Amino acid sequence: MVTLEIKNITKTYKKGAVKALDNFTATLTPGVYGLLGPNGAGKSTLMNIITDNLTADSGEVLFDGENIKSLGASYRAILGYMPQQQGVYDDFTLNRFLWYMAALKGMKKAAAKEKITQLLDTVNLTEDAHKKLGSFSGGMKQRALIAQALLNDPKVLILDEPTAGLDPKERIRIRNFISEIAGDKIVLISTHVVSDIEFIAKEIILLSGGKLVAMDTARSLTETLSGKVFEIDIAGGELDDVRRRYRISNIFHSDDKITVRIVTDIAPDKYACREVTPTLEDLYLYVFEEGHHR
Ligand code: ADP
Ligand code: MG
Repeated sequence: MVTLEIKNITKTYKKGAVKALDNFTATLTPGVYGLLGPNGAGKSTLMNIITDNLTADSGEVLFDGENIKSLGASYRAILGYMPQQQGVYDDFTLNRFLWYMAALKGMKKAAAKEKITQLLDTVNLTEDAHKKLGSFSGGMKQRALIAQALLNDPKVLILDEPTAGLDPKERIRIRNFISEIAGDKIVLISTHVVSDIEFIAKEIILLSGGKLVAMDTARSLTETLSGKVFEIDIAGGELDDVRRRYRISNIFHSDDKITVRIVTDIAPDKYACREVTPTLEDLYLYVFEEGHHR
Protein backbone atom coordinates (compact mmCIF):
# COMPACT_ATOMS: atom_id res chain seq x y z
CA MET A 1 0.00 0.00 0.00
CA VAL A 2 1.40 3.41 -0.95
CA THR A 3 1.96 5.94 1.82
CA LEU A 4 2.55 9.65 1.92
CA GLU A 5 4.26 10.63 5.16
CA ILE A 6 4.27 14.28 6.10
CA LYS A 7 6.76 14.66 8.91
CA ASN A 8 7.20 17.62 11.23
CA ILE A 9 6.62 20.26 8.57
CA THR A 10 7.13 23.85 9.67
CA LYS A 11 6.84 26.71 7.21
CA THR A 12 7.11 30.43 7.90
CA TYR A 13 6.70 33.44 5.62
CA LYS A 14 8.04 36.97 5.93
CA LYS A 15 11.29 35.99 7.60
CA GLY A 16 9.54 33.99 10.28
CA ALA A 17 6.86 36.61 11.08
CA VAL A 18 4.04 34.38 9.76
CA LYS A 19 3.99 30.74 10.82
CA ALA A 20 1.82 29.05 8.21
CA LEU A 21 2.56 25.47 9.34
CA ASP A 22 3.70 24.46 12.78
CA ASN A 23 5.27 21.01 13.11
CA PHE A 24 2.57 19.32 11.00
CA THR A 25 2.70 15.53 10.90
CA ALA A 26 0.32 13.06 9.23
CA THR A 27 0.51 9.82 7.27
CA LEU A 28 -1.85 9.29 4.34
CA THR A 29 -2.75 5.98 2.71
CA PRO A 30 -5.10 5.38 -0.28
CA GLY A 31 -8.50 6.99 0.26
CA VAL A 32 -10.00 10.45 0.45
CA TYR A 33 -8.81 12.86 3.13
CA GLY A 34 -10.58 16.12 3.86
CA LEU A 35 -8.32 18.97 4.92
CA LEU A 36 -10.65 21.25 6.82
CA GLY A 37 -9.84 24.70 8.15
CA PRO A 38 -10.75 28.38 7.76
CA ASN A 39 -8.96 30.84 5.50
CA GLY A 40 -5.37 31.25 6.59
CA ALA A 41 -5.21 27.88 8.38
CA GLY A 42 -2.31 26.76 6.17
CA LYS A 43 -4.14 24.41 3.77
CA SER A 44 -2.62 25.76 0.55
CA THR A 45 0.82 26.00 2.12
CA LEU A 46 0.62 22.33 3.10
CA MET A 47 -0.51 21.35 -0.40
CA ASN A 48 2.26 23.38 -2.02
CA ILE A 49 4.79 21.55 0.14
CA ILE A 50 3.31 18.11 -0.54
CA THR A 51 3.43 18.85 -4.28
CA ASP A 52 6.99 20.16 -3.99
CA ASN A 53 6.09 23.61 -5.26
CA LEU A 54 7.31 25.10 -2.01
CA THR A 55 10.10 24.11 0.36
CA ALA A 56 9.44 23.79 4.09
CA ASP A 57 11.70 25.42 6.69
CA SER A 58 12.01 22.04 8.33
CA GLY A 59 10.54 18.56 8.12
CA GLU A 60 10.15 16.23 5.17
CA VAL A 61 7.61 14.54 2.94
CA LEU A 62 8.16 10.87 2.08
CA PHE A 63 6.40 8.93 -0.67
CA ASP A 64 6.67 5.22 0.03
CA GLY A 65 9.52 5.95 2.40
CA GLU A 66 11.53 8.13 0.01
CA ASN A 67 11.98 11.87 0.28
CA ILE A 68 9.98 13.56 -2.51
CA LYS A 69 12.89 15.93 -3.10
CA SER A 70 15.17 13.04 -4.05
CA LEU A 71 12.40 11.36 -6.07
CA GLY A 72 12.04 14.54 -8.15
CA ALA A 73 10.59 13.77 -11.59
CA SER A 74 9.49 10.28 -10.66
CA TYR A 75 7.38 11.79 -7.86
CA ARG A 76 5.85 14.37 -10.20
CA ALA A 77 4.98 11.52 -12.56
CA ILE A 78 2.59 10.02 -9.99
CA LEU A 79 1.27 13.36 -8.71
CA GLY A 80 -1.89 15.21 -9.74
CA TYR A 81 -2.42 18.73 -8.44
CA MET A 82 -5.20 21.24 -8.79
CA PRO A 83 -3.97 24.54 -7.37
CA GLN A 84 -6.29 27.08 -5.78
CA GLN A 85 -5.84 30.09 -8.04
CA GLN A 86 -7.81 30.24 -11.23
CA GLY A 87 -8.35 32.24 -14.37
CA VAL A 88 -4.83 31.84 -15.71
CA TYR A 89 -5.89 29.87 -18.75
CA ASP A 90 -9.12 31.67 -19.62
CA ASP A 91 -8.05 32.27 -23.24
CA PHE A 92 -7.37 28.57 -23.84
CA THR A 93 -10.04 26.28 -25.17
CA LEU A 94 -10.46 23.26 -22.94
CA ASN A 95 -8.87 21.04 -25.59
CA ARG A 96 -5.85 23.26 -25.95
CA PHE A 97 -5.51 23.55 -22.18
CA LEU A 98 -5.47 19.77 -21.72
CA TRP A 99 -3.00 19.27 -24.59
CA TYR A 100 -0.80 21.96 -23.11
CA MET A 101 -0.87 20.36 -19.63
CA ALA A 102 -0.20 16.93 -21.17
CA ALA A 103 2.85 18.36 -22.89
CA LEU A 104 4.07 19.90 -19.62
CA LYS A 105 3.71 16.50 -18.02
CA GLY A 106 5.80 14.99 -20.81
CA MET A 107 3.08 12.74 -22.16
CA LYS A 108 3.48 11.13 -25.58
CA LYS A 109 1.02 12.28 -28.25
CA ALA A 110 -0.88 9.01 -28.64
CA ALA A 111 -1.19 8.52 -24.88
CA ALA A 112 -2.32 12.13 -24.43
CA LYS A 113 -4.94 11.80 -27.15
CA GLU A 114 -6.46 8.71 -25.60
CA LYS A 115 -6.36 10.11 -22.09
CA ILE A 116 -7.84 13.49 -23.03
CA THR A 117 -10.73 11.85 -24.87
CA GLN A 118 -11.39 9.62 -21.87
CA LEU A 119 -11.10 12.43 -19.30
CA LEU A 120 -13.38 14.77 -21.23
CA ASP A 121 -15.98 12.06 -20.98
CA THR A 122 -15.29 11.45 -17.27
CA VAL A 123 -15.76 15.12 -16.40
CA ASN A 124 -18.70 15.37 -18.78
CA LEU A 125 -17.19 18.15 -20.91
CA THR A 126 -16.76 16.45 -24.30
CA GLU A 127 -19.29 18.80 -25.91
CA ASP A 128 -17.54 21.84 -24.48
CA ALA A 129 -13.95 20.93 -25.38
CA HIS A 130 -13.75 23.56 -28.15
CA LYS A 131 -14.96 26.41 -25.90
CA LYS A 132 -12.70 28.82 -24.05
CA LEU A 133 -12.25 28.24 -20.31
CA GLY A 134 -13.14 31.90 -19.76
CA SER A 135 -16.69 31.17 -20.92
CA PHE A 136 -17.13 28.23 -18.54
CA SER A 137 -19.35 28.24 -15.45
CA GLY A 138 -17.65 27.76 -12.07
CA GLY A 139 -18.47 24.08 -11.98
CA MET A 140 -17.25 23.45 -15.55
CA LYS A 141 -13.99 25.24 -14.80
CA GLN A 142 -13.40 23.20 -11.66
CA ARG A 143 -14.09 20.00 -13.59
CA ALA A 144 -11.65 21.10 -16.29
CA LEU A 145 -8.98 21.76 -13.65
CA ILE A 146 -9.59 18.40 -12.02
CA ALA A 147 -9.30 16.76 -15.46
CA GLN A 148 -5.81 18.17 -15.98
CA ALA A 149 -4.80 16.87 -12.56
CA LEU A 150 -5.85 13.38 -13.67
CA LEU A 151 -3.95 13.31 -17.00
CA ASN A 152 -1.12 11.16 -15.67
CA ASP A 153 -3.35 8.79 -13.71
CA PRO A 154 -1.86 10.02 -10.43
CA LYS A 155 -1.41 7.89 -7.34
CA VAL A 156 -1.48 11.06 -5.24
CA LEU A 157 -4.16 13.63 -6.06
CA ILE A 158 -4.11 17.02 -4.35
CA LEU A 159 -7.16 19.27 -4.85
CA ASP A 160 -7.03 22.74 -3.33
CA GLU A 161 -10.60 23.95 -2.70
CA PRO A 162 -12.13 22.21 -5.72
CA THR A 163 -15.61 23.41 -4.74
CA ALA A 164 -14.75 27.07 -4.10
CA GLY A 165 -17.29 29.44 -5.62
CA LEU A 166 -19.71 26.72 -6.70
CA ASP A 167 -23.45 26.69 -6.13
CA PRO A 168 -24.91 23.82 -4.05
CA LYS A 169 -25.86 21.72 -7.06
CA GLU A 170 -22.39 22.02 -8.56
CA ARG A 171 -20.81 21.25 -5.18
CA ILE A 172 -22.70 17.99 -5.00
CA ARG A 173 -21.69 17.04 -8.53
CA ILE A 174 -18.01 17.75 -7.86
CA ARG A 175 -18.19 15.90 -4.56
CA ASN A 176 -19.69 12.78 -6.14
CA PHE A 177 -17.27 13.03 -9.00
CA ILE A 178 -14.24 13.13 -6.68
CA SER A 179 -15.61 10.15 -4.80
CA GLU A 180 -15.93 8.23 -8.08
CA ILE A 181 -12.45 8.94 -9.38
CA ALA A 182 -10.72 8.39 -6.02
CA GLY A 183 -10.29 4.63 -6.49
CA ASP A 184 -7.03 3.50 -4.94
CA LYS A 185 -5.42 6.93 -4.99
CA ILE A 186 -4.36 9.04 -2.04
CA VAL A 187 -6.68 12.03 -2.43
CA LEU A 188 -6.36 15.16 -0.32
CA ILE A 189 -9.11 17.80 -0.66
CA SER A 190 -9.01 21.13 1.11
CA THR A 191 -12.14 23.05 1.98
CA HIS A 192 -13.70 25.23 4.63
CA VAL A 193 -17.10 23.72 3.94
CA VAL A 194 -17.85 20.72 6.14
CA SER A 195 -20.44 19.16 3.81
CA ASP A 196 -17.91 18.96 0.97
CA ILE A 197 -16.06 16.15 2.70
CA GLU A 198 -18.19 14.93 5.60
CA PHE A 199 -19.47 11.84 3.79
CA ILE A 200 -16.75 11.14 1.23
CA ALA A 201 -13.59 11.42 3.35
CA LYS A 202 -12.25 8.36 5.12
CA GLU A 203 -10.56 10.75 7.51
CA ILE A 204 -10.80 14.44 8.22
CA ILE A 205 -7.79 16.55 9.09
CA LEU A 206 -8.60 19.65 11.12
CA LEU A 207 -6.03 22.40 10.61
CA SER A 208 -6.01 25.57 12.66
CA GLY A 209 -3.29 28.22 12.66
CA GLY A 210 -0.90 25.80 10.93
CA LYS A 211 -1.37 23.16 13.59
CA LEU A 212 -3.01 19.76 13.28
CA VAL A 213 -5.96 19.85 15.67
CA ALA A 214 -7.28 16.37 14.97
CA MET A 215 -7.25 13.67 12.31
CA ASP A 216 -9.90 10.98 12.44
CA THR A 217 -13.09 9.66 10.86
CA ALA A 218 -16.05 12.06 10.74
CA ARG A 219 -17.87 9.77 13.16
CA SER A 220 -15.11 9.71 15.76
CA LEU A 221 -14.55 13.43 15.50
CA THR A 222 -18.24 14.09 15.95
CA GLU A 223 -18.43 11.74 18.94
CA THR A 224 -15.86 13.83 20.78
CA LEU A 225 -18.53 16.54 21.00
CA SER A 226 -21.14 14.36 22.57
CA GLY A 227 -22.70 16.03 25.61
CA LYS A 228 -21.69 19.46 24.34
CA VAL A 229 -24.44 20.30 21.85
CA PHE A 230 -27.84 21.55 23.04
CA GLU A 231 -30.99 23.16 21.79
CA ILE A 232 -32.65 25.85 23.87
CA ASP A 233 -35.96 27.62 23.32
CA ILE A 234 -35.84 31.33 24.02
CA ALA A 235 -37.77 34.52 23.45
CA GLY A 236 -36.52 37.13 20.99
CA GLY A 237 -35.18 39.43 23.70
CA GLU A 238 -32.86 36.72 25.01
CA LEU A 239 -30.93 36.14 21.80
CA ASP A 240 -28.22 38.72 22.55
CA ASP A 241 -27.55 37.14 25.93
CA VAL A 242 -27.31 33.67 24.38
CA ARG A 243 -25.02 35.01 21.67
CA ARG A 244 -22.68 36.44 24.30
CA ARG A 245 -22.53 33.22 26.28
CA TYR A 246 -22.42 30.48 23.68
CA ARG A 247 -21.18 29.43 20.29
CA ILE A 248 -24.32 29.39 18.20
CA SER A 249 -24.52 26.68 15.59
CA ASN A 250 -28.03 27.42 14.33
CA ILE A 251 -30.97 29.75 14.95
CA PHE A 252 -34.48 28.67 14.04
CA HIS A 253 -37.37 31.14 14.30
CA SER A 254 -40.87 29.77 14.74
CA ASP A 255 -44.10 31.68 15.47
CA ASP A 256 -43.86 31.78 19.26
CA LYS A 257 -40.18 31.11 20.05
CA ILE A 258 -36.62 30.92 18.82
CA THR A 259 -34.79 27.58 18.96
CA VAL A 260 -31.05 28.03 19.25
CA ARG A 261 -28.49 25.27 18.78
CA ILE A 262 -25.40 25.85 20.89
CA VAL A 263 -22.04 24.13 21.36
CA THR A 264 -20.69 24.45 24.88
CA ASP A 265 -18.42 22.67 27.37
CA ILE A 266 -20.82 23.41 30.22
CA ALA A 267 -24.53 22.63 29.92
CA PRO A 268 -26.58 25.83 30.10
CA ASP A 269 -28.22 26.41 33.50
CA LYS A 270 -30.07 29.61 32.75
CA TYR A 271 -32.14 28.17 29.92
CA ALA A 272 -34.07 24.91 29.65
CA CYS A 273 -32.09 22.80 27.24
CA ARG A 274 -32.15 19.42 25.53
CA GLU A 275 -29.04 17.58 24.46
CA VAL A 276 -28.86 16.83 20.74
CA THR A 277 -26.64 14.66 18.55
CA PRO A 278 -23.55 16.56 17.44
CA THR A 279 -22.70 17.05 13.77
CA LEU A 280 -19.36 17.73 12.14
CA GLU A 281 -20.49 21.31 11.59
CA ASP A 282 -20.91 21.70 15.35
CA LEU A 283 -17.35 20.47 15.74
CA TYR A 284 -16.08 22.90 13.12
CA LEU A 285 -17.66 25.71 15.07
CA TYR A 286 -16.29 24.39 18.35
CA VAL A 287 -12.74 24.20 16.99
CA PHE A 288 -12.63 27.30 14.85
CA GLU A 289 -14.93 29.91 16.34
CA GLU A 290 -12.94 32.55 18.17
CA GLY A 291 -14.26 34.30 21.25
CA HIS A 292 -14.81 33.90 24.95
CA HIS A 293 -17.58 31.34 24.84
CA ARG A 294 -17.84 28.52 27.30
P1 ADP B 1 -5.31 28.56 3.59
O1 ADP B 1 -5.03 27.91 2.27
O2 ADP B 1 -5.77 27.60 4.65
O3 ADP B 1 -6.24 29.73 3.47
P2 ADP B 1 -2.56 29.55 3.40
O4 ADP B 1 -1.64 28.37 3.38
O5 ADP B 1 -2.86 30.20 2.10
O6 ADP B 1 -3.92 29.13 4.16
O7 ADP B 1 -1.98 30.65 4.38
C1 ADP B 1 -1.52 30.36 5.68
C2 ADP B 1 -0.93 31.62 6.28
O8 ADP B 1 0.26 31.97 5.59
C3 ADP B 1 -1.84 32.83 6.22
O9 ADP B 1 -1.62 33.61 7.37
C4 ADP B 1 -1.37 33.55 4.97
O10 ADP B 1 -1.63 34.92 5.07
C5 ADP B 1 0.12 33.27 5.01
N1 ADP B 1 0.71 33.21 3.66
C6 ADP B 1 0.39 32.33 2.68
N2 ADP B 1 1.15 32.53 1.58
C7 ADP B 1 1.98 33.57 1.87
C8 ADP B 1 3.03 34.23 1.14
N3 ADP B 1 3.36 33.89 -0.10
N4 ADP B 1 3.65 35.26 1.77
C9 ADP B 1 3.34 35.61 3.04
N5 ADP B 1 2.38 35.02 3.77
C10 ADP B 1 1.70 34.00 3.20
MG1 MG C 1 -5.87 28.15 0.45
